[in-house]
Order: sequence, then structure tokens, then C-alpha cells
Amino acid sequence: QAKVAGKNCFRFYSRAMDRAVERRVHLEHELRGAWERGELSLVYQPVFRVADRALVGAEALLRWRHPQRGAIAPSVFIDVAEQSGLIETLGPQVLGAACADAALWQARAGAPAPFVAVNLSPRQLRSGDLPAVVADCLQRSGLRPERLHLELTETAVMGDEASAGRLLSQLRASGVKVWLDDFGTGFSGLSHLRRVPVDGVKIDRSFVADILRDPDDLALTTAIIAMAHSLGMTVVAEGVEKEGQYALLRERGCNLAQGYWLGHPLPAQEFARLLG
Ligand code: C2E
Ligand code: MG
Ligand code: MG
Ligand code: MG
Repeated sequence: QAKVAGKNCFRFYSRAMDRAVERRVHLEHELRGAWERGELSLVYQPVFRVADRALVGAEALLRWRHPQRGAIAPSVFIDVAEQSGLIETLGPQVLGAACADAALWQARAGAPAPFVAVNLSPRQLRSGDLPAVVADCLQRSGLRPERLHLELTETAVMGDEASAGRLLSQLRASGVKVWLDDFGTGFSGLSHLRRVPVDGVKIDRSFVADILRDPDDLALTTAIIAMAHSLGMTVVAEGVEKEGQYALLRERGCNLAQGYWLGHPLPAQEFARLLG
């Protein structure tokens, strides 16, 4: 009896797994060429200096509008792109487009021009030609290197810290800035900061979300800010949804912030309008 049940169980799970795999393969197939078909676009979330709420830059976030299924979350399709290797072509396309948009802001804004922050996935970091891709995007767009910020997660630099360190040093030597994204969600946050050469950290929005209610989250956020500052790094808070969170972050000396209370992600032209 148990054997039969086990078998049925196995069949059930195996069918569910088949469907999940099928769906992934399907998505992967549809994601191929989506950029060329114009289904993918970038939106820009404004980033502000906390002290005076000056608009200082934007984070580029990728959007996929599927012709039948509508908007598909980046958490879903970025993963598919990463696993399938599609990110190797998509990544440079995103980087090129973000640099081109930011170069236009550079031309219309007075000094200092806003920066653009671009997310990189672990595979892009390991691909080997990242410095060349970055140099190419900067050269073609005319964007000044220090106006390009690269965001990478702790997990992307985990494992081989030595080679990640060399790569990041090389990128920073070219003038671009490097941020550790979703900081605090990884396992080795603090020890990492000493070994990985970055310009700053982005406090994950899961911490920011509860700083008004949870004393532990406030303590952690305050500690991250103090620690980053003592290492000469800048701190960005993400996911600021309430005025109270912003006030608290300002009180604790957080440098930059983004979030729905400050501004939602916008198409490039609408973001440019914010620049006045
Ligand atoms: P992330 O880099 O941590 O991006 C921040 C995410 O938080 C974005 O979600 C943004 O829309 C969302 N967000 C911003 N402010 C708020 C807020 O006040 N409240 C809440 N609840 N959410 C807020 P999104 O656009 O869905 O992106 C999710 C993740 O997908 C990103 O996390 C990033 O890891 C990845 N991603 C997005 N675009 C790209 C890309 O071009 N390349 C790569 N490699 N990854 C990307
Ligand atoms: Mg990011
Ligand atoms: Mg983030
Ligand atoms: Mg995050």
C-alpha cells in the first residue's frame, strides 16, 4: 500500500516538476529575442540625497511586457536569463541602453549630472569580458565613467572573493562606482566588506520596511550605516515607503535613498522631466 502511495506521490511531484520545467523552457524561449522585439524596456527609479532630498541619480530596472501574458516580474525572468545564459546577451544590451539614456541626462542637466545604477547578475560578473563591455558602453554613449554605478549582490561575489576583488578593482580603476546590493540579506555581510572593494552598500528594503516598528531592524540599519561610514563607504537605503522611515534614516546619517515614498520607477523620458 505504502509502495503504491509512494509511487503515486512520486508521479504527482514529478508531473508538477515537469510543468515547472516546461514553463521555464517556454519562458526562456519567449525571452530569446524579446529585446529585439521591443518587449523589454528600462524604467528608472529616482535616487535622492537624504540630507536635502536632491535628485542625484536613478536605478535602471528592467521590465518585460509579454505580448499575451502582460508584465512578468524581473524576479522571474532575470532568473531564467541567468540560468539559461541569455543574460550574456541581455546584460550588455541593458548596460548599453542605460548608459545611452544617462548620457542624455548628462547633456541636459547642469553639473553634477545624475548617475545611473545598473544591476548585474552573478553570471555577468563571471563572464570575463565585463570590463570590456563596460568600457564599450561608456565609449559609445559618452557617459562619464563616474556617472555609471554597478550594483551587484553579496552572493555574486561570494565563493571566489579573490577574483571578484580583482575584477571590481579593475572596474573601479576605470572610474565607475560599485555598490553591494541587497546588503544584509547575505550570510557574510560584515566580513565581506573588508575584502571586497566597493564604494558603498544598499541596505535591503526588508530592513528598511520595519525600522519604525522593529527595534532590531533599526539597530541593524543603524549599525550598517555606522560600519559602512567607518570604512569610508556610502550607504543607500532602498524601499523607503513612508515619511517616518525617511526621517529616521536622515537622523541616522544614511546618505542616499530610494523608494515609493520618494519616487516610483519611470520611463526614461519621464525621469528626464524630473531633472527640470
Ligand atoms: P533590486 O536591485 O533590489 O531592485 C529594487 C527593487 O525594489 C525593484 O523591484 C523596485 O521596483 C523595488 N522597489 C523600489 N522601491 C520600492 C518600495 O518603496 N517598496 C517596494 N515594496 N519595492 C520597491 P523590481 O524592479 O521588481 O526588481 C527586482 C529585482 O530584479 C532587482 O532587485 C534586481 O535584483 C533584479 N533586476 C531588475 N532589473 C535588472 C537588470 O536589468 N539586470 C539584472 N541583472 N537584474 C535586474
Ligand atoms: Mg538593485
Ligand atoms: Mg536592491
Ligand atoms: Mg533588494
